[in-house]
Amino acid sequence: MKFFDSKQQAVVDFVPLKPGKVGIYVCGPTVQSAPHVGHLRSAVAFDIVARWLRIGHGYEVKLVRNVTDIDDKILVNAQNLGKDWRELAVEVEAGFNQVYDSLGAGVAHSPHATEHIGGMIGVIERLIERGHAYQAENGTANVFFDTASHPAYGELTNQKLENMEGEAIGGGRRAAHDFALWKSAKPGEPETASWDSPWGKGRPGWHIECSAMTLAELGEAFDIHGGGLDLRFPHHENELAQSRAAGFEFANHWMHNGLVTVSGQKMSKSLGNGVSVEELFELGNPAAVRYWLASAHYRSSLDYSPTSLAEAVSALGRIVNFVRRASEVAEVSVTEMPHEFVEAMDSDFSVPVALGVLHDTVRVGNSALDAGDKDAVAAALGSVVRMADVLGLDLTSNEKVATAETIELIEGLIAKRNQARADKDYAQADLVRAELTAMGITIEDQAGKTVWMWSN
Ligand SMILES: [Zn+2]
Repeated sequence: MKFFDSKQQAVVDFVPLKPGKVGIYVCGPTVQSAPHVGHLRSAVAFDIVARWLRIGHGYEVKLVRNVTDIDDKILVNAQNLGKDWRELAVEVEAGFNQVYDSLGAGVAHSPHATEHIGGMIGVIERLIERGHAYQAENGTANVFFDTASHPAYGELTNQKLENMEGEAIGGGRRAAHDFALWKSAKPGEPETASWDSPWGKGRPGWHIECSAMTLAELGEAFDIHGGGLDLRFPHHENELAQSRAAGFEFANHWMHNGLVTVSGQKMSKSLGNGVSVEELFELGNPAAVRYWLASAHYRSSLDYSPTSLAEAVSALGRIVNFVRRASEVAEVSVTEMPHEFVEAMDSDFSVPVALGVLHDTVRVGNSALDAGDKDAVAAALGSVVRMADVLGLDLTSNEKVATAETIELIEGLIAKRNQARADKDYAQADLVRAELTAMGITIEDQAGKTVWMWSN
C-alpha cells in the first residue's frame, strides 16, 4: 500500500518498522474548551487509517492520541470560569470522549500530559546534555530549545530558519526561533499547575509533551505521526527537532489531514462562520456526521455547506436501506471486498473512490433484490457490510435512519394507511402517505405488501 508522506512530500510504499505491527501517534486535543469540527475530522481520518491497516492488511495497530491537559489556555479559561483548572480539563475531556465515541473514533491509548511530566524532564535533561537546550540566564526556570544547534531544523516543513516567523526575544530566549521546553511558574498561577524540576518550579511547553509521550507509548522509533495540517508548523516541526536532537529516530512517516472550510472559506472565530459540533449533530445523526467527515479525501479541505449534511444523511440512508432490505431475504455471506475498493484504500486512503465502489455495490444489490436473485443479494450484502466496517459506518444504530423506534413508527404509519385504504378512506390514506413523504420515506405497494425505502 502507498500513501503520501507529508515530510518527504511524496507518495511512499508503506512498510512497518516491525513486521506485522504499526505504531501511530496523532496529536490530540488541548482540553480547554469544547471540540470543534476540525478535531472530529482528524479523529475520523486517522481512525480510518488504523482500520484499514488492521482490516485490510492484518497489522496489529497501536493508535495513540494524547490529551494536552495542562496549558496556558486551560489555566486562563478556568480562571475566567472561576473553576479549578483540573476540573475544567476533566470536564472538557469527557465532552471530547463523548463525541469521539459517538463517531466511532475513540482510542484505547490516550496518554495525558500531566502523567508524563517526569518523561518530559528526562528528554529536556538529555537535550541540555547534548548541547541542544539551555536554561534562561534571568533567574527563571525557563528552558529553551536551541534551534541554531540543530542544523536540520525546518526539515519537516522544508523551511530555512531565516525565512521563518519567530517570537520576540524575551524571558531568557536567545533567538527568535528558540522555543520553550520548560516554562517557569509565574506568580498568581495556581500552585497545582507547576511541578518541581532541576531548573525550578514550572510546567512543560506544549511541544515537549508529544516527544515524551511518543517515547513512552511507542518507543524511540515509530511508524506514523499524524495530525491536522495546522499542526505542521511550529508544533510538529518542533516535536521532530527536539526528538531528533535528543537522539531518537522518531516518526518514520508523517501524515496530515486537511482542514474544514465553510462555503469555501477558512473556518474561524473572527469570521464568525464556524459550525459547532452541536449544530452538526442536530442536522445529522452521528453515523451521518461520520459519513460526511470521511467523504472528502483526508488531504483535501472538507467544505461544510448547509446541504452537505443532508447529502450525507441521504447517501448513508441508501446504504442502510439496502442492508435492511437485503437482510430480510439473505444472510450476510463472507465475501471479499471488491478489488477496486482495496485499490482505492491502498492508494493513499482514497475514501471518496472507495465510497463510490460501495454505492456501486449497493446499486448492484438493489437490482438483484428487484430481480429476486438471492445469491447476488447475499454477495452484495456481504461486500457492503465489509466495506462499511472498514470505513467505520454504523449501519445498525442509526437513529434517524433505522433504529427500532423509527422502524416501528414507519411501519405503524404504513399499517394506518393500509387500514384507511381498506376502509376506502382515501383522503386519510393520502394524508398518511404525505406524512411518510415528509419523513423522507417512499412506499411501494407490491403483491399485497407495502415496502418502504428512503427517498433518494
Ligand atoms: Zn503533538
